[in-house]
Amino acid sequence: MRRTHYLLPTLKEVPADADTVSAKLMLRAGLIRKVASGIYEWLPFGLRVLRKVERIVREEMDAAGALEVWLPVVQPKELWEETGRWTYYGKELLRLKDRKDTEFCLAPTAEEVITDLVRREVRSYRELPVMLYQFGTKFRDEIRPRFGVMRAREFYMKDAYSFHADEQDAEKYYKRVYEAYTKIFTRCGLQFRGVEADTGTIGGSFSHEFMVLAETGEELMVSCDCGYAANVERAECRALNPGSPEPPLPPEDVSTPGSWSVEDVAKLLKLSPEKFIKTQFYVADQEPVVALVRGDREINEPKLQRVLGCKVLERANDETYRKVAGCEVGYAGPVGLKERARNPKFRLVADLSVKDIVNGVSGSNRKDYHTVHINVGRDYQPDGFYDIRVIREGDSCPRCGETVRFSRGIEVGHTFKLGLKYSQSMNARYLDEKGERVPFVMGCYGIGVSRVVAAAIEQRHDDNGISWPLALAPFQVIVLPLNVTEPNVMGTAEKIYQELKDKGVDVLLDDRDERAGVKFKDADLTGIPVRVTVGEKKLPAGLVEIKGRDEAKPTDVPVSEAVGDVLRRLK
Ligand code: ATP
Ligand code: MG
Repeated sequence: MRRTHYLLPTLKEVPADADTVSAKLMLRAGLIRKVASGIYEWLPFGLRVLRKVERIVREEMDAAGALEVWLPVVQPKELWEETGRWTYYGKELLRLKDRKDTEFCLAPTAEEVITDLVRREVRSYRELPVMLYQFGTKFRDEIRPRFGVMRAREFYMKDAYSFHADEQDAEKYYKRVYEAYTKIFTRCGLQFRGVEADTGTIGGSFSHEFMVLAETGEELMVSCDCGYAANVERAECRALNPGSPEPPLPPEDVSTPGSWSVEDVAKLLKLSPEKFIKTQFYVADQEPVVALVRGDREINEPKLQRVLGCKVLERANDETYRKVAGCEVGYAGPVGLKERARNPKFRLVADLSVKDIVNGVSGSNRKDYHTVHINVGRDYQPDGFYDIRVIREGDSCPRCGETVRFSRGIEVGHTFKLGLKYSQSMNARYLDEKGERVPFVMGCYGIGVSRVVAAAIEQRHDDNGISWPLALAPFQVIVLPLNVTEPNVMGTAEKIYQELKDKGVDVLLDDRDERAGVKFKDADLTGIPVRVTVGEKKLPAGLVEIKGRDEAKPTDVPVSEAVGDVLRRLK
């Protein structure tokens, strides 16, 4: 490709509203342009990268036995009502009406449509397993679109869905897809990690996220040398070390006027936050719930939701708080909660971190008072102790007990073992060997293809611009004649360019009549892995300069060996 015939509008200035390195670089290097909040155009240079990711994903999905389909972006409301997600998906689901007032949504994902397809077309166990996948536009009306295409509203995803006769087969396939994903991100030249994850609005029994490692990533994950790795949202927590043993003392109310936060009361009473039992109020499917956690820890709401098994979990408002605790907001505690006596559906659940607190402190359910020397069993009894807290730096690995490490990443892929969630609610069944109609066991597997492009930049860049991994680079080589009006320089550059093209290399010839500085800057900004510079100074000696994007200095190479040298670098 010749630069003079190519739309590659690079920018010197950093666009004002670009909020991450990758967003800035994608705009500056001419990969994308913004049309509206979270909505982008992909220019030729950016699309080349997107297509390279897509190709790797397609090859590995095909190799794993998946069959490509193409599903609609506009999906009928009725299908989404069958699973209840027309309601539960909330505002991320963009809804629209056609001219006849029929309601639709723009696909944020495609479980409903694919399950409908398979329940119509697959009848017997003999046709199973089947895995279908597609590449397509997804729309999610994200609350806060940001980080360029990383959290966009309209984006490009590969989504795959598998259907099985039984759990074992679903698990076997799940592992196969996990391995395919490992191959995909390895081939993309990225550093990544597969971690245990929460199932979110997609639901199902277990899931993994694939994280591209980057300090700027939105996701926080924990890992351990023993091999355990999980998203912090999901990471399991153990009970905490109990302090030094002490005899239980009788409970006592102490006056704490105006102080109600753990921090303030701890200061006032000169006690460590580790002695506190934090009391938090929720509403789970319309019933009140109180959750307890140690004063220095936080409740993990997705975990709490799983423990409660509820569809909707919300923080209680002040009115509910007052009703359940029978006191002003800020002074509630587990002992003598009013709601406990009168509502059999009320639940009091405690985190494992509370279990070993001896002589604890909490609110007294009375304004301006706290109770000290609270002991579980004697003074209060939760319905159970569960892992419902957020893991923290210094916590131990749930598998081996060593201290876990924290790191950041960008979620680029997500695999779910769905089980019967969709097949049951949509009554998608096949005939088994005994002639009975039983629901399919399902899995689903996504890759944010457009997010992968941004993640690659987030992981690989320097002050001068992008540094593409070879497999994703829009062009592998840039041939850069320094003076295009000099026939010998241009002739040599053309020759090298043509030979590389003939060898099947993706090569860009920067044939613009521009200053050397401008061309070098653009070459660095756009991140092309290998640069061949042809200049008036060295050409008389029969030399060109070849430089890898991450190398500090170019190497002189005889013109006759230039193509060979480049090809070796691309291997
Ligand atoms: P996130 O937690 O980042 O919102 P998610 O769990 O909602 O992601 P999935 O439903 O698992 O995402 O979608 C599959 C993949 O699609 C994700 O792993 C991610 O790579 C990509 N993806 C999800 N939301 C967006 C978005 N708003 N913009 C770009 N890519 C996205
Ligand atoms: Mg999301």
